[in-house]
Amino acid sequence: MKKLFLIICIAILWSCNKKEKNVVKESTTVIEPKNPLNQLKYDNKIDFYCKMDITKYGVSDTTHYKGKLYGFCSTMCKNEFLMKPEEYLAKQ
Ligand SMILES: [Zn+2]
Repeated sequence: MKKLFLIICIAILWSCNKKEKNVVKESTTVIEPKNPLNQLKYDNKIDFYCKMDITKYGVSDTTHYKGKLYGFCSTMCKNEFLMKPEEYLAKQ
């Protein structure tokens, strides 16, 4: 019985450690290399709507406009851009 208890303790400690490592990783890694969207080349470096640096923080949604590929941090930002793309491109 004692041995089993010890194994359970070790298992709990191990899973706790693992969890902690994941949390640290999430807060330090901004770009997810596994996300295929972050491996594409975009014609913008800054999210037009929220002005976020997408090369630093990653892309969650993209759109094609007049033959160019633009990346955005979220679908909401993409939709805002598509409502008046000329205006955002003029400000660029
Ligand atoms: Zn954004």
